[in-house]
Amino acid sequence: MKTILNKDLSFKLQSQLIQRSKLKAGDSLYVSSGFKSLSISIPYQAPGKIISNVYLVGGAGSSASFDCFVYLVDCGDSMLLIDSGTQNGVKKIINNIRKLKLDPKKIDTLFLTHGHYDHADGASGFKGFCNCTILIHEKDLDALTGKHIEKTAAKYLGDESFHSIDPDIVVKDNYRFTMNNIDFKVIHLPGHTPGNSGLLTKINNKTILFAGDILGWISEKWGSDLHELENSINRIIGLKPDIYATGHGWYKEDDLEYQFKLMKAMSEDKVLDLVLTKNHKLF
Ligand SMILES: [Zn+2]
Repeated sequence: MKTILNKDLSFKLQSQLIQRSKLKAGDSLYVSSGFKSLSISIPYQAPGKIISNVYLVGGAGSSASFDCFVYLVDCGDSMLLIDSGTQNGVKKIINNIRKLKLDPKKIDTLFLTHGHYDHADGASGFKGFCNCTILIHEKDLDALTGKHIEKTAAKYLGDESFHSIDPDIVVKDNYRFTMNNIDFKVIHLPGHTPGNSGLLTKINNKTILFAGDILGWISEKWGSDLHELENSINRIIGLKPDIYATGHGWYKEDDLEYQFKLMKAMSEDKVLDLVLTKNHKLF
């Protein structure tokens, strides 16, 4: 099968491919070649526990239809939320947290992996709810603040509007913060957007990287850069996290590099025989 892609088609196809690559509830986790293999069951529907005090609290189908995966780390006296999802999902995420018998008012910090609609549109909703401190990388600041609305991807994700907000802290690579003895380090992983950043931490002897969008949609409209993306993927492989939690799914072993090649082919509007390579059971 051969499919010639133009820019629009490749966008739709990227969406389909990303949707189809998601694992189902109860599938064991994953990670790319070079990573330590890990087999723990990951909840696909929020709310659910990932390990000890790390939870999945939002996502498409669990909060609002366009929401990315939203993660929560319960640090005891305070809690950290990683990404906000969209404004439409804020109430459901709050409810999901209550279902875990946790108090959502204890959300003290909201780390935004990047400024896209599906990750950051709900930030102002959480700010209003619990007055959390909002962090984002400096290179996605113009998206979050609404200065460069195209960079939020809002109109490509079903909603023209974006709830902009000024963050409290603008971070760079290697920025560190601590919440009740749990250390978090910002890992700048550009490519999908200029400021896409992960958060690295260690909990119960497992290193966790909340990576934001690594294999998400790419477009010049929001400053995607494939060369930077390739470097970011190499950086993740070098970090060897035990748990690699992305914005939209869990990737099966060996998928990361392969899916990068796939994205590169799509972005260059190449024929997509690559998708159908028999050696790779992607879907
Ligand atoms: Zn994104």
